[in-house]
This record gives sequence, C-alpha cells and structure tokens, in this order.
Amino acid sequence: MTTPTMIDPFGRHVSYLRVSVTDRCDFRCVYCMSEHMTFLPKPELLSLEELDRLCSAFIAKGVKKLRLTGGEPLVRKNILWLVEALSRHLKSGALEELTFTTNGSQLAKYASDLARFGVKRINVSVDTLDAAKFRNITRWGELAKVLNGIEAARTAGLKIKLNAVALKGVNEDEFDDMILYAHERDMDLTLIETMPLGEIDGDRTDQYLPLSIVRARMMDKWTLEDIPYKTGGPARYVRVKETGGKIGFITPLTHNFCESCNRVRITCTGQLYMCLGQDDMADLRAPLRASKDDALLSAAIDEAIARKPKGHDFVIDRRAAKPAVARHMSVTGG
Ligand code: SAM
Ligand code: SF4
Repeated sequence: MTTPTMIDPFGRHVSYLRVSVTDRCDFRCVYCMSEHMTFLPKPELLSLEELDRLCSAFIAKGVKKLRLTGGEPLVRKNILWLVEALSRHLKSGALEELTFTTNGSQLAKYASDLARFGVKRINVSVDTLDAAKFRNITRWGELAKVLNGIEAARTAGLKIKLNAVALKGVNEDEFDDMILYAHERDMDLTLIETMPLGEIDGDRTDQYLPLSIVRARMMDKWTLEDIPYKTGGPARYVRVKETGGKIGFITPLTHNFCESCNRVRITCTGQLYMCLGQDDMADLRAPLRASKDDALLSAAIDEAIARKPKGHDFVIDRRAAKPAVARHMSVTGG
C-alpha cells in the first residue's frame, strides 16, 4: 500500500501538523499577548476527543510529525489524555514524532509522563536567563520554575531545543550566555525574529532585531560553521566550533522560508490555517461535528490543502500601523 500524502498546488508535501490545544496561557509575553487578553469562551473549543479525531484524520492523510502548542499546551486540562491517545499512532508507526512547544512552566509536573507516552523532543521557549528580565518579558512568569522544568525534562530523557525571540535592547546582550547554558546541556538554541502577529500593547518596531545583525556580532566571539542540518522546520543552522552545539536562526522577515513549507496549523476551535502569515482558513469543526464518520472532514481537509498559499509577506515598518495578521501567535500556535 502506498503511503497517503497531501500535496499542495506548489508541489509541497504537507507532512507536519501543529495544533494549538488552547489559546490560554499562564504567561503574557510582551511580543505575543497584550496584558488583558480576551480568550475564547470554553464551549467554542474542540474537546480532547475531537482534537484526537482531527489529528488522527491528518495522520491518516500522511502527517508524520505532530506538534502540540498553544497558548501554553500544558495548561489545557487533561492534556495527558490527548497525549496518551495520540501515542497509539507512534506505536503503530503511522506517526513518526509527537512533540511540544512549551513555555516550560509545567514541565516539572509533566516531563516524565510525556516521555512515557513517547514524546522524545520538545521545544522550550526561554528568552532570557535573567530572572528580573524574564518577569518583564513574560509579565507573569518565574524563571526558576522554568529552569527546574528543563532539568526535569532532561532527567526524563527528553531532548530539548531552546527557543528565544531576539528582542532589541532586551536580550541582545545575553546570547553568548545562552549559547553556553544551552550547549553545556546538549540543547540546541534557536533564535527567532519577532513576527507581526496580533495586537500587543507596545510597538513592534521597537522590539524587532534582525538576526543578520545578531549573527554578525556572534562571529566576533564564536566560529560559526554553516551546516546542512534540518529539523523539518524553517530554521537555518550553524555549528559553534568552540562548543560543538548548534544555533538555529528563524528569519521570517529577513529571509523568506516559504518555499519548503511542509506544515499547516489548527486552532483549538478547529480552524485550519494553511499559512501562519495569511488570513485564509478552513473551518474543520463543522464537518467534524456534522457526522461520526470522517468523510466530510477528509473532503474539507483536501479542499483546504488545495488552496495553501505560496507564502506570506510579513513586513514590520512604521508605516504599517496594524499587524500583518490580526490573530495572535497563541491562536494559531507558534
Ligand atoms: N506557550 C508556548 C511557548 O511559549 O513556547 C507555545 C506557544 S508560543 C505562541 C510558541 C512560540 O512562539 C514561542 O517560542 C514564542 O516565543 C513565539 N512567539 C510568540 N509570539 C511571537 C511573535 N509575535 N513573533 C515571534 N515569535 C513569537
Ligand atoms: Fe504564552 Fe507562549 Fe505566548 Fe508567552 S509566547 S504568552 S508563553 S503562548
């Protein structure tokens, strides 16, 4: 039997699904959310059973990698039920990887269960190693709790990648320390440029720090070697000769990474976004709820993949007063 595949109009195989299991979060990172967010009413959300059915439909269509994200995925009530349910696809071999992007605040509690259900790698977002700055960036977060969570995940045997958003005037003096912290613990570090998603309280042009500048500065201290390493994501990697560890650069603004895009995203209400940087979406909740079998759902997925756009056109400049996309990253999932 041939493996089913979803192929978009530009010949890209869609094999990676990112699922935002909740739009809620226990942090309020300044680049991601405003301080007073209005979250979706709970009845709007897909139940965990519905999320399982939706993910399983995508796996039946050839999705090999599934990432649970949010909001903060580990604050969704009973999230372990979903992880255990999805782990059957790892056991059968239909799914190659089940992974998370998390802020780490709940990792101390969940790391060993995640490992038990077959999660092998996770991304943890930490923008600074300074507790006061961490509080300022996340508004509500406690760095020590996150660092403990990272240690718990390492003890559980999870492979960790650290994600940090590069913020002008905030953490740009810390990247050398973060490289050491990460590489001493066998973790890769990925730096991300701020993307214009959703209304926030501040001005994004104040936060935007092009990674081309960061990389050039790093070369004063470190020997960076270009390597062809790929994780199925948009990061370009270099190896730091002195530490042996890797640094990834995600540059949606200075480099367009759409040509090799293999992913689609689902919100916690069942909206399928074919591109993080475009507004077009397909509602999958209606076909999911319309019948118990998956025929309508499957047809709706095919129809949506057939209109996956070629790419995004993010711009951050002072003339564009509004974000490129009104949704917050926490809705579509980072
Ligand atoms: N709460 C989890 C976390 O923070 O890892 C998962 C969701 S969060 C939306 C996923 C990633 O998106 C995080 O690494 C976060 O730093 C990043 N992110 C959020 N808003 C962003 C923005 N406007 N531009 C760039 N990255 C953003
Ligand atoms: Fe929450 Fe993650 Fe957004 Fe921070 S980046 S507010 S942790 S969803």
